Amino acid sequence: VTLSTEDLIQMEHKFSAHNYHPISVVFAKAKDVEVWDPEGSKYLDFLSAYSAVNQGHGNQKIIDALIEQAQRLTLSSRAFHNDKFPVFAKMLTSMFGYEMMLPMNTGAEGVETSIKLARKWAYEKKGISKDEAVVISCCGCFHGRTMAAISMSCDNEATRGFGPLLGGQAKVDFGDASALEKLLQEKGDKVAAFLFEPIQGEAGVVMPPDGYLKKVRQLCTKYNVLMIADEIQTGIARTGRLLACDWEDVRPDVVILGKALGAGVLPVSAVLADADIMLCIRPGEHGSTFGGNPLASAVGIAALEVVTEQNLSERSDKMGQEFREQLRGIQKDYPNLIKEVRGRGLLNAVVLNQADLGNATAYDVCMGLKNRGILAKPTHGNIIRLSPPLTIKREQVAQASKALREVFEFD
Ligand code: PLP
Repeated sequence: VTLSTEDLIQMEHKFSAHNYHPISVVFAKAKDVEVWDPEGSKYLDFLSAYSAVNQGHGNQKIIDALIEQAQRLTLSSRAFHNDKFPVFAKMLTSMFGYEMMLPMNTGAEGVETSIKLARKWAYEKKGISKDEAVVISCCGCFHGRTMAAISMSCDNEATRGFGPLLGGQAKVDFGDASALEKLLQEKGDKVAAFLFEPIQGEAGVVMPPDGYLKKVRQLCTKYNVLMIADEIQTGIARTGRLLACDWEDVRPDVVILGKALGAGVLPVSAVLADADIMLCIRPGEHGSTFGGNPLASAVGIAALEVVTEQNLSERSDKMGQEFREQLRGIQKDYPNLIKEVRGRGLLNAVVLNQADLGNATAYDVCMGLKNRGILAKPTHGNIIRLSPPLTIKREQVAQASKALREVFEFD
């Protein structure tokens, strides 16, 4: 029996936890930017699984690497060595310019790893007294759903009812370098790290003022605090550079990657750092059964090769500029409805003017887009994030702009 969209949505609602509020589309098949539902309707994917599918759905080279590796060896665990992980580690570190990497699976695990690494470094290298290390994070941040990751958050919805949260944390406004400096002046000698997203993705593509990343770099150096960039969503060419920090030529001490590192094929995450930091973690102190597994390593290698071979950073930069121009054209015609168009590369957001929408919400606009074959997800009630695969073609970008214009025109 083939199950219909409606059957599948009902089944999911009945048998799985209600921890998401999805747009009512069922993915049954996907290739590059296109997605088909069980009834055969076709859509363009303008979310890319929260930027995990930068290389496009089902990229042939990556799927071939997956199949070839799956037929040979899938898991050794790190109790033994395998013949793929070292190759992946070498490639990843040389591509991003760090001496070492630590492999995990999900983004949140990468964040956990970076916090543990920062604490260990703080006690061993900075000389902070036992159990007193503080990690500073930003209001509006999103680092995942584990206890440590939500403890970094100021979002009530993410934390309410889940306490007690992790200790040893402090918050500062995102984009406010003076506030960060003040905090560091007060408690800099207890601070292990400053954890931040160079552009806040889940918050609705919130961009810091120009020069912020440079200033953060200076402050972290001055106060001997690790600068930890969570590039899980912004990294791997999403913003038109390999890392979003590259926009200001800034080199963080620690970089966390995930999502597109596995190209939407497998969960693959990693923490990058130089040896003087990374080697603070010793054998037996941290790990993951699946981290660095040969299957993930083979996919990771292919995922990175595709980014280079297809010039995805440049593509993202160019297509993003074109897309924002089109979106700003719509904004010009509907200034009451669209408050702002912002983004870098293909990480973009349209901010709606809630006051002038009446009872409508960004969710309704996304439903209108869906009815015109474009899949996007609202965030924070009035923000629509638009982040297609970086392989997107010019006509497909134009198709999305046209659909958005029509939603405003007719709905
Ligand atoms: N950090 C950032 C910046 C993210 O955008 C996300 C996911 O959206 C995460 C961490 C968590 O990644 P995962 O869902 O793979 O745990």
